[in-house]
Amino acid sequence: MSDSRTNDQGVIVVGAGIVGTATARSLQRAGRKVTLLDSGEPGRATSYGNAGFVAIDHVLPLARPSTLRRVPQMLMDRTGPLSVHPGSVPWLLPWMARFALAAYSQAEVKKGVDSFGALMAEANIAWQAEIQASGLGELFKTQGALYVYESNSAFADGEEERALQAAKGTVFEIVDGNRAREIAPGLSERIVRGVYYPHGMHTINPYRVVTTLAERFAADGGTILRGRVRGFSREGARVTSVKLTDQELPGDSVVIAAGRASGELTRLLGFNAPLVAERGYHVMLAPDNVRFDLPVSPAERGFFITPMEEGLRVAGTVELAAPHQPPTWARADILVRHLKDIFPDVGGAERSRWIGERPSLPDFRPAIGRAPRLSNVYCAYGHQHVGLTLATATGRLIARQMEGEELPAALTPCDPGRFG
Ligand SMILES: Cc1cc2nc3c(=O)[nH]c(=O)nc-3n(C[C@H](O)[C@H](O)[C@H](O)COP(=O)(O)OP(=O)(O)OC[C@H]3O[C@@H](n4cnc5c(N)ncnc54)[C@H](O)[C@@H]3O)c2cc1C
Repeated sequence: MSDSRTNDQGVIVVGAGIVGTATARSLQRAGRKVTLLDSGEPGRATSYGNAGFVAIDHVLPLARPSTLRRVPQMLMDRTGPLSVHPGSVPWLLPWMARFALAAYSQAEVKKGVDSFGALMAEANIAWQAEIQASGLGELFKTQGALYVYESNSAFADGEEERALQAAKGTVFEIVDGNRAREIAPGLSERIVRGVYYPHGMHTINPYRVVTTLAERFAADGGTILRGRVRGFSREGARVTSVKLTDQELPGDSVVIAAGRASGELTRLLGFNAPLVAERGYHVMLAPDNVRFDLPVSPAERGFFITPMEEGLRVAGTVELAAPHQPPTWARADILVRHLKDIFPDVGGAERSRWIGERPSLPDFRPAIGRAPRLSNVYCAYGHQHVGLTLATATGRLIARQMEGEELPAALTPCDPGRFG
C-alpha cells in the first residue's frame, strides 16, 4: 500500500549528502512534495570529498574472508590502507566483532553478493537517468578506470572479484605494466599488472554534483531547510513530525539519510543502526604533469588518484575511529607519499586536505527501505565506500517503495530491520 498523501505535508528527507539529495530528487519526480533538511549546507559532509568514482564494478562486499585475512598485515603496516584510532578500540569492538562474523559467514557473503549485484545494476541505469534529468553531464566523464598492481600475488588476490564481475557482464581488460603505462602515462615501472574498466565513469567534482542536484530540486519546487533533527513525534506506528531545535516539522513520511549520524536518529525511533565512521582523507594537489584523464587505484595501497576540476585528488585509506576524534593528518601525508611511489613525477603543491566519515554497517551492506515497526519511515544510509555510486539507485528504490512497490527480493539483505 502506498503512503497516504491526504494531509499533503509531504516527505521530509533528513540529510542532504549525496544519498539524501538524490533521494529527494527521485521523490520529487514521483510527484511528492519534499523537504530536504540538513543541519549544515548540502554536500558539505562525507559527500564533499570522495574520490568521485562511480564504482559499479564493486560487486563483492568488503565483509568477506579475504578482507579479514588481510587485516593483521594491514594493521602492522603503518603506511597501509587500514588503521584503527587507538583510543577508540573499546568503542569499536562490538562493530568489529559483528564485521568478523559477517565476513566469516558464507551465507552473509552471499547476501552481500546478491544485493550488490542488484544495486549496481540499478545504479548504472539510475545515474544515466539522473545525469539527463538534472543536467549533470558536464560534471561526469566516462574515461574508464584503472586498478594497478605492484605484485603478481596481489593481482591474483583479485581473481575472485574479477570472476564475479565477468559473470555479471562487467567489461574489463587485464593489462601488463607497459599497457597500464600507456593508459595512464607517468605510472611507475613498479606497476606489473592492471585491470582497465573502459566504461568506468567518474565525476570531476562530487561536491558540485550534490549542490547541482540541490539547486535543481529547489528550482523544481522542493524546499531546502537548515535544521538539526533532535527527535520525532509519533502516533502509534507513524511518525507525525520531526523535532528541530526550535520548531516541529509535520510530515507524511520521513527518510533517514543522515550518513554516519543516522544511528543516533534510528535509536530515537526505536531501532538499531550500528554505524561506525570509516574515516578517509583526501589531499588536493596542483595538477602538475597529469597526463591521464581517468581514476587510477593502486589496489594494494587502497586509494584513488582522480584528476578533478580543481586539481589532482588523492583520496582513500580507512581509519576506524569513534565519533568526534580529532583527524590524524599523518594519514593524509601517507597518501601523498603513495602518490609519489606510483606516479613519481605527478602532482604539485598541496592546495587543501580533508577528512570524511564513510557511514559503514558491520556487514558492509547499506540499509535501504522501510524502517522496522514504523509504517512511514524509510532508511537510506550505510553506503560506506560506494555512497556516490549507489545514491541515485537508493533514491529510486525508496521512491518506488513509497509508491507501494515491493523492493526486489535480492535487496532483502539490505533490510534496515536486520540489526533489531
Ligand atoms: C576518502 C573517501 C573516498 C570515497 N570515494 C568514493 C568513491 O570514489 N565512490 C563512491 O561511490 N563513494 C566514495 N566514498 C563514499 C561516499 O563518499 C559516501 O558513502 C557518501 O558520501 C555518503 O553519503 P551520505 O549522503 O550517506 O552521507 P553524508 O554526505 O555524510 O551526508 C549526511 C548529511 O546528514 C546531515 N545530518 C546528520 N545528522 C543530522 C541531523 N541530526 N539533522 C539534520 N541533518 C543531519 C549531515 O549534515 C550531512 O550533510 C568515499 C568516501 C571517502 C571518505
